[in-house]
Amino acid sequence: IAETAESNVDVLIIGAGPAGLMAAAWMAHCGVKARIIDKRNTKIMCGQADGLQCRSLEIFDSLGFADRAWKEAHHMIEICMWNPGTDGVIRRGDRVPDTIVGLSRFQQIVLHQGRIERFFLDNIKKYSGDSIQVERCVLPESLEIDESKVDDEAAYPVTVKLRMLKEEEATPQQQISGSTVTDGLFRSNLIQEDDEDDLIRKSKARAGASEIVHAKYVIGCDGARSWTRRALGFELKGEATDFIWGVMDIFPITDFPDIRMRCVVHSANSGSLMIIPRENGLVRLYIQLKEVTPDASGRADKSKITPDVIFSAAKTILSPYKIDHEYCDWWTGYQIGQRTGTHFDAHGRVFLAGDAVHTHSPKAGQGMNVSMQDAYNLGWKVALVAKGVCRREILNTYQSERRRVAQELIEFDHKISRLFSGRPAKDVTDAEGVNMEEFKKDMFLKGNLFASGLSINYGPSSLVVKPGDAAELGDGSAKSASLAVPSPITVDEFSKKQALATGLPVGMRFNSFKVLNQSDARPWHFQERLKADGRFRVVLFAGAILSVAQKHRVDAFCAALDAPGSFLRRATPPGQQVDSVVEVLTIHSSKRTDTELLRDFPDMLHPFDKYKGWDYDKVFVDDVSYHEGFGDAYTNYGVDKEHGCVVAVRPDQYVGWVGDLEDFEGLQRYFEGCLVLRDGTVPENGAKAEMVH
Ligand code: FAD
Repeated sequence: IAETAESNVDVLIIGAGPAGLMAAAWMAHCGVKARIIDKRNTKIMCGQADGLQCRSLEIFDSLGFADRAWKEAHHMIEICMWNPGTDGVIRRGDRVPDTIVGLSRFQQIVLHQGRIERFFLDNIKKYSGDSIQVERCVLPESLEIDESKVDDEAAYPVTVKLRMLKEEEATPQQQISGSTVTDGLFRSNLIQEDDEDDLIRKSKARAGASEIVHAKYVIGCDGARSWTRRALGFELKGEATDFIWGVMDIFPITDFPDIRMRCVVHSANSGSLMIIPRENGLVRLYIQLKEVTPDASGRADKSKITPDVIFSAAKTILSPYKIDHEYCDWWTGYQIGQRTGTHFDAHGRVFLAGDAVHTHSPKAGQGMNVSMQDAYNLGWKVALVAKGVCRREILNTYQSERRRVAQELIEFDHKISRLFSGRPAKDVTDAEGVNMEEFKKDMFLKGNLFASGLSINYGPSSLVVKPGDAAELGDGSAKSASLAVPSPITVDEFSKKQALATGLPVGMRFNSFKVLNQSDARPWHFQERLKADGRFRVVLFAGAILSVAQKHRVDAFCAALDAPGSFLRRATPPGQQVDSVVEVLTIHSSKRTDTELLRDFPDMLHPFDKYKGWDYDKVFVDDVSYHEGFGDAYTNYGVDKEHGCVVAVRPDQYVGWVGDLEDFEGLQRYFEGCLVLRDGTVPENGAKAEMVH
């Protein structure tokens, strides 16, 4: 960065942790001019987050790297619960599956955050053609929003001043100087002083080169002590508890029988411990530190937390079993507390995501997952608005959708943290103790559904057509969210529409079942076809296409799609392929071998390209495969096999609208509510599918 340089960028991302990298991945996949900066000199190398939930893996798959995580990670299959018997000695009380069976095509896995960050960096490099790279040792110093320009689509209303740091300034200080074992305390909530302010002071003293960046949009993903949040004057609200926990990644030498299972151990009087088996034979221990207590101000003294203190607590809790270690990979400590951000955006121009807007205990393995999912929700919206594909109003849905998730996360964490840290009940009359049946029900049966990320159901907005008062969101975004609703839908109207696809609830992610490609018979999990490339999708459940009456209905639907005034035509930029903004995918239910792609489906459903010919990757069939069984997709999606239906899917795989083939007007209104549509003329140059027969 040259001294006093000045530049423009569409999107500036501050912070290159999981949330920032997810936002950058969207920019890369959508072809948006973006920069991402981080004050640290390197990505995470070991430790920190490790649990990846089902939804995160589905997201990774949409970006193209779930296979890397799936292969490298340890797979979590079973949870064992250890509790004290009447004699006070711990014993295995119960076992449950780690992931609810049938919830997703993925199950929970564990792999350290550094590998996840590596996969993102490789993916961003590939999709951006190396034009988006994390700029490290760069610190933002000031942020200003020119409010007079926030509604001007072409303006760069956010000005951020950046400063280069020296290498040593960007290197975190370790708790025990000279130790070869990395600790994560510098990122822990036990750090009391504000290290960003400290860095700014140091960097000013050294006067590194600076740059002024004018951005259309800024995304602050700079963690729990977010500088961006503070620059906007926003706060995290919530409370700390008295519970202090330590974490260690070790190779355990032990006679404890379930060391390769995820375990929760509640000892009679010495606190609790959680075991997370990890990749490459490592094991993570989360250990309650009963000996370390917060002072009168409510803060614990981090200097009292050392690997020896943590490990000796682990030994006591696991006794009479023995545990030792020769090698520790990483350790840290934290104080349990739950906080959420008061605001998730300023003027629809600066957004906050990840730990910057919610912090909680790491035990439910949620922070990295929810942080990435925030940015997965936000990234495509910012990218498509910056590109002029989507209307600016859709940006309101970020806060209305994700703030509620953050609040639910905090409530969940509050509940399970207490169940984890409390002493087990001695008997049914012991009201202060934790009832182990309740623990199992709340943590593993109900909790696992929430933790998987698959229970999220977004409320009504311009992107989700369902009934409900936007005020119900209770988050201050009601006004903007209700403005964004394209047309109110009554409960009755909605129930009729939703009944057409009962397995695809509007507002939830598009579930996945296997279907076959009509042209080559290859089985696909349908979600694999919903790639994160910034495109909306219309999924046409064409039903029994070989029935003459049904074929007429499909033809009429396609004729409406193909008409000059249709959203599809009007959203497609001149000179681009007809599927460049909205892709139409078809699943039919007739017998594959009786059906012919070119004979039985309108050209619209497999558009022609003058170089590549017909598109053979858009029409699928719900039929039996040779090697991978029968997905029974129509039954699982709750769609009638004769009649079919139409589903609009957002770029992040959430169902936005469901309707009948005759309800083209409803579909058109959905897209009018979120896309920028040109006047009613047909785009030129190959945008229209050419007919060759
Ligand atoms: P961060 O990962 O904190 O990233 C913020 C980035 O911004 C950092 O790279 C930082 O250097 C940079 N930055 C900060 N300030 C500035 C600034 N002023 N300028 C420029 N850059 C800045 N989550 C899970 O999902 N599963 C788990 O199993 C799990 N286990 C955990 C275990 C432990 C012990 C801990 C401590 C956390 C765990 N978490 C887990 C939580 C998870 O690590 C965080 O929630 C996640 O990293 C948040 O991602 P983020 O991108 O929002 O923030």
